[in-house]
Amino acid sequence: MATAQTAQAPISPPLSSARERWYARRLRLPVFYGTTRAQVLTVMAAAAGIFVAPLIFNDGFMQQVMQTIAYYTIAAIGLNVLVGYQGQVSLGHGALFAFGAYASALLTTRAGVPVWIALFLAAGIAGVLGFLVALPTLRARGHYLAMVTIALAVVTFVVAQTWTDVTNGPTGIGNIPRPEWFGGTTMGALRKFRPFGDDGPVLTGQILYFWVCAGLALVVQLLATNLLTGRFGRNVNAVRQSEIASETVGVSVYRMKLKAFTFSAVLAGLAGALFTHQQGYIVSDTFSFDKSVELLVYVILGGARSVYGPVLGTAVLVVLPELLKTAASYNVLPSSNLPLQVLCVAVGGLAATGLVRLKTGSVTRGVLSALTVFGFLGFTLITPQIIEHFLIVYGCLLIVFLVLMPEGLAGFVRDLPGLRRVKTRRASGAAHTVTSLDGLVAIPSMAGRQRLALEDVKMHFGGVRAIDGLSMVVEPGQVHGLIGPNGSGKSTLVNVVTGVYTPSAGHVRLGDRVLNLLRPHDIAGLGVTRTFQNIQLFKDLSVLDNVMMGFHVHRRAGFMHQLLRTRLAAVEEAEIRERSLQLLAFLDIEHLADAEAQSLPYGLQRMVEIARALASGPSILLLDEPAAGVNPSEIGRLSEVIRRVAAAGVTLLVIEHHMDLVMGVSNHVTVLDYGKKIAEGTPASVQSNQRVIEAYLGSAEHSFEDLRRAPQLA
Ligand code: ADP
Ligand code: MG
Repeated sequence: MATAQTAQAPISPPLSSARERWYARRLRLPVFYGTTRAQVLTVMAAAAGIFVAPLIFNDGFMQQVMQTIAYYTIAAIGLNVLVGYQGQVSLGHGALFAFGAYASALLTTRAGVPVWIALFLAAGIAGVLGFLVALPTLRARGHYLAMVTIALAVVTFVVAQTWTDVTNGPTGIGNIPRPEWFGGTTMGALRKFRPFGDDGPVLTGQILYFWVCAGLALVVQLLATNLLTGRFGRNVNAVRQSEIASETVGVSVYRMKLKAFTFSAVLAGLAGALFTHQQGYIVSDTFSFDKSVELLVYVILGGARSVYGPVLGTAVLVVLPELLKTAASYNVLPSSNLPLQVLCVAVGGLAATGLVRLKTGSVTRGVLSALTVFGFLGFTLITPQIIEHFLIVYGCLLIVFLVLMPEGLAGFVRDLPGLRRVKTRRASGAAHTVTSLDGLVAIPSMAGRQRLALEDVKMHFGGVRAIDGLSMVVEPGQVHGLIGPNGSGKSTLVNVVTGVYTPSAGHVRLGDRVLNLLRPHDIAGLGVTRTFQNIQLFKDLSVLDNVMMGFHVHRRAGFMHQLLRTRLAAVEEAEIRERSLQLLAFLDIEHLADAEAQSLPYGLQRMVEIARALASGPSILLLDEPAAGVNPSEIGRLSEVIRRVAAAGVTLLVIEHHMDLVMGVSNHVTVLDYGKKIAEGTPASVQSNQRVIEAYLGSAEHSFEDLRRAPQLA
């Protein structure tokens, strides 16, 4: 314990043992570092698919549809990070798409920038504009962002319509160059390029442009997958579930949101630019509010919070209207056939109703879904002139989809029989035996530990004086008990120390530093962390992921490292994972690593919270009623854990009503009543203090023994 520890534990990088099957072998490639051969093969298959698709569908119109799917997928992937993972709805991404589109159009037509450069400049410009929009708005929460983004979409549309000097409004910008290939030919004109000899296929500009769009989409998908399956994904998930808990492990929620928003803005801009050069001509009408809704629907239908949702949603929603139009134009029957039409709608409708009622039973579900779609498609096929009511049919199908698939297409596919996710990786190999925190978390050395001091602190909520002129000192290395009746201000004190509340008056000091104006994540970074009286876990995340979040302040691989899955990022992730497992073993809950946090009983959830807090290597840990809701038989284990943590050199402030527990573990006890300190000293001196007994039991007739025998009085 003499020095700050950087772990020396035997940690292996995420590379394979010889026993693993060939496809599960992990590779040391950039961008794929630590991914399996199977994953790399999937990517290669996708690349091959992209290569052959336009050669198979060798038709200009189809190729254009495929280009459209590709660039909307890019936008949807970005929006999914925001809407799905971070849980923040944006109705303004159509505007960011427009920024990209106009930027690239203007750069190429007015400034003569080559298309290849303009595409990426446009993405960057949309990113910067997105960042600037997000800067003031992301401080707000909830629906406010949705409102602001709607405003962004509407204002952008109005500006595009009216600022005709730049945008030409509804008249539009024409003659936008297409990408130039092999010495100056553009998209339409490339007719004679036959790379495979005279008899081989002709490579048209449409084919080449599809390869560009889809290639970029594949790259974006890869990078986004890197982000979302690693630490960044865990962080955005965590922020969605509990902002306050994210802050207490050191995540700056604001910066996290800024990153996610900017990332999605860049991708929306890139998509807009690709759109511009596909069309060759853009008008302001394209960028109405509808565009934003369209992008959002791609994400939601595809399956928010799924890595592959965006491409599924986009593909279906781009192809579906075309299919419907084609189907509708066939006029299979010359005149209406009412019985058949009724039959189709009845089959589709009944199947859909069945689906809504049926939650499980996957084979039946698959059959019913097929019947639903066939019913509606059949109706479209046999109804003459339905093309005129095309939007109605499209809208109905969309509603059916959205109602039937709350988790989107991705969720639906995942639940198909045979595809149900094979329970992935077991969290641990061999179970660990860990009895000490040495080398596991970076707890500061004795010299680095500082005292926590409150100086005449007040915290008032209107007329309520939750803390009323409190001074106290928590000495380093102590287990400091804090007791007091309900409502005496204990939790408020924890909130004031950890930056959740800014005190109305007075100072909170850590060593020489005043903490008053720091934000919770900064205070966490200084080594002060906590647990919550009302447990604040990241509920949907696994126990292991919760603990891995706790290591946040010590991680070095930044955004770019995660995006490119560098060696640093992959090794760090594996190392943190291993240490988290060991930390769980230290608290005897390693076997729960894979469990969803919210599935555990309270007592164990509190243990997970303690593990997460310990992961940050705190110098001071504040436990707010760690025994509340804990099974009485487990109190002994909790005391043992507190002792072990204290032995590792962590200073503890323990708030507790369970008198045996708090008196047993504490060296020093402070008693609060109505926000004021009424007693302080050794556990023994506090227990014999009449004021304390009065505060708790209302009369000095009783003794402290009564309190111990009946903790519910406390
Ligand atoms: P304890 O944790 O000791 O039971 P608290 O610190 O939770 O007590 O509460 C102390 C007092 O402050 C209570 O009267 C409570 O109602 C009040 N209080 C706490 N937080 C707030 C808040 N955010 N707004 C208004 N009053 C609050
Ligand atoms: Mg409390």
